[in-house]
Amino acid sequence: MQMGPRAPGMAGHDAVVTFITDVLRQYAAEVTTQPFKESTELGPPGREYDFTNIIGKFPGARQGEVLAVGAHFDTRPIADRDPDPAKRTDPVPGANDGASGVAVLLEMARALKAQAPPRSVLLIFFDAEDSGSATAPGPYHGFCLGSRYLAANMGSLRIDKLIVIDMIGDADLSIPKELNSRDAAPQLLDTVFQTARRLGHGAFDDRYGQRIVDDHLPFISQGIPAIDLIDFDYPYWHTTSDVAAHCGADSLLQVGDTLLEVIYADRW
Ligand SMILES: [Zn+2]
Repeated sequence: MQMGPRAPGMAGHDAVVTFITDVLRQYAAEVTTQPFKESTELGPPGREYDFTNIIGKFPGARQGEVLAVGAHFDTRPIADRDPDPAKRTDPVPGANDGASGVAVLLEMARALKAQAPPRSVLLIFFDAEDSGSATAPGPYHGFCLGSRYLAANMGSLRIDKLIVIDMIGDADLSIPKELNSRDAAPQLLDTVFQTARRLGHGAFDDRYGQRIVDDHLPFISQGIPAIDLIDFDYPYWHTTSDVAAHCGADSLLQVGDTLLEVIYADRW
């Protein structure tokens, strides 16, 4: 958050790429960056931005399937849902919509270095999720550029299952079961929610939510079971009030603790 907004082309964007890469290099066995250039729905026509997906590998104690846990690190260039029209061209600070998922992933990286997972884990930091526009064409409306690029350019990267976390920092966190996740990977979704219940993490609410376009969809399209953990009921979504004061450390803890238990109990 101290780096400022992490929207395409902004100083904070480049700073956070360096920050995530540097922190990840302390913990992961291998860090891969995947640069790509693309224009966005919200940028000037023809302007291409430099984007970077960042991937940290944590080899498992034994060979086998690979679980990826991902979050987008970019923030929205415009706060187009702000109640004050004068602020709707300001960038979103992105405490919940951006930083929350990154915070959980970086803490998971520290844990996964301290204790190797039973099976291999990838932590993926997606760029360019949040520069779409509801009026743009196609199923993604210009969102999810980084995850779409990675899903289309996997190279030798193996991902057997994917858990995306997004907007999981709300101080009043309540995560329902997202509907695309239920359709694509009901077993993985149930495992995560059962694990949360067993740990007493009440932020996971065993009810069905909305159908949400997010970074899990490009992988579902490739036939990879993928789920999205997201609390879309956040009044500060895409406003200039998406700040740390509206987020809670306990929310991050509940999500990170649940995911680490899924990994270490080898339940995915
Ligand atoms: Zn967003």
